Amino acid sequence: MKLILLGPPGAGKGTQASRLAEKHGIPQLSTGDMLRAAVRAGTPVGLQAKAVMEAGGLVSDQIVVGIIADRMSEPDAAKGFILDGFPRTVAQAQSLDEMLAGKGMKLHGIVELKVDENALLARIEKRAAETLAAGEVVRADDNPEAFKKRLDAYREQTAPVSAYYASKGTLRQVDGMASIDDVSKAIDQVLAR
Ligand code: ADP
Repeated sequence: MKLILLGPPGAGKGTQASRLAEKHGIPQLSTGDMLRAAVRAGTPVGLQAKAVMEAGGLVSDQIVVGIIADRMSEPDAAKGFILDGFPRTVAQAQSLDEMLAGKGMKLHGIVELKVDENALLARIEKRAAETLAAGEVVRADDNPEAFKKRLDAYREQTAPVSAYYASKGTLRQVDGMASIDDVSKAIDQVLAR
């Protein structure tokens, strides 16, 4: 199973991706997680990505395509994966098409979580508060100012990715405002179609 989860920041992609990964026994490939790990490790990629991520902007296509290409070549990704946070631009989607074609792979589904934008900031604030309460470190971009930029980047650069897949007839949409369990069920249903 090879899947893409699309949706704005705070839509619940990470939550659903990790559930799907567990259910199907395949890895969750989150470019956000990979980039944060690179920042923590202070790698050259991390050093380049840090400031732009903290400000809520998008890291360059070249960097993310590179890290995804490397990750997809690892043995555990051969039987499938859930992409979470990638592709985020039409150029990334086109690079992904080329990568998959080169490997003779096909996507099984592209699922978009549809959410009410007004609810997103509240979700992010809740996540930050829960993280803090658990004694963990809050993401540097989980604050209202960076979040607004992330939403702008989503509207300008990532919403067209949904249109890209919709024009190919491969996009399936799910109501992301339902409970976590109900969203999981709805995803299973659209994938079974
Ligand atoms: P969210 O989906 O909640 O916005 P992510 O963890 O997916 O958060 O991403 C966090 C940040 O990492 C993004 O705001 C961006 O700076 C960077 N990033 C992640 N994936 C990509 C990507 N595919 N292209 C460019 N930047 C990315």
